[in-house]
Amino acid sequence: MQDDDIYEVFALRYAERSDRKRLESFIFADAHDGPHPIDYYIWVARSRDRTIVIDTGFDHAEAASRGRSLLREPREALTTLDIDAGAVSDVIITHMHYDHAGTLDHFPAARFHLQEAEMNYVTGACMCHDELRMPFLAEHVCSMVQKLYSGRLAFADGDAEIAPNLTVHRIGGHTAGIQCVRVLTRRGWVVLASDVSHFYENFEQRKMFPIVLDAKAMLDGFARLEELAESPDHVIPGHDPLVRARYPAEDPRFEGILHRLDVAPKL
Ligand SMILES: [Zn+2]
Ligand SMILES: [Zn+2]
Repeated sequence: MQDDDIYEVFALRYAERSDRKRLESFIFADAHDGPHPIDYYIWVARSRDRTIVIDTGFDHAEAASRGRSLLREPREALTTLDIDAGAVSDVIITHMHYDHAGTLDHFPAARFHLQEAEMNYVTGACMCHDELRMPFLAEHVCSMVQKLYSGRLAFADGDAEIAPNLTVHRIGGHTAGIQCVRVLTRRGWVVLASDVSHFYENFEQRKMFPIVLDAKAMLDGFARLEELAESPDHVIPGHDPLVRARYPAEDPRFEGILHRLDVAPKL
């Protein structure tokens, strides 16, 4: 195995929301009134030759319209790794929810990677339902259609290799075509779950998140994350503030902004 195909992996936190309760994270959990803050992240996988961005977050306008607290735009967070969003060549979109597929136009050189099932979902009859449509934004979907028509969208159908030792895997459940990302690091295979598991508690205790299209796919997906990862410690949930605690920033200036995931967690 060549070192070229081993990746550093980072979580970049760009937003948060603290006025939130457990009932928004777990369908059947007890203590539904308890507080349950959430973090918003994008991720980067970087090898000697490649920089791949996973998800693109949302911008100031979307934060204002949904009452979220934007700490920094995703492209600004990327500068902590000296990454120029305008020069990024590959962006994986795990799913099309507003907090994962905004700011697409901040990546004008990128080829986007999305599951075909996700595009079908966000442009089909399911979006006639207010409840299912709520976490999406038409502008984001239209922007992705523009990428398609300009030859900058690559579809996956299930499992697909994006680069050596970096693959995507359609899981479904939370949305029709949500995918996770599996990447080889110096500590083994790390799986970026995104919203396949928002919090550690979702997959560790098999607790469903309330935004669910297919309950079986979501529950099967929790097991699939563990199959794909080197160990449960190698699964990185999509929104959990515990990620910051388990992977403290290497550089104190970037605490709460840049957290390295290819090192062993502090448990
Ligand atoms: Zn989502
Ligand atoms: Zn999300």
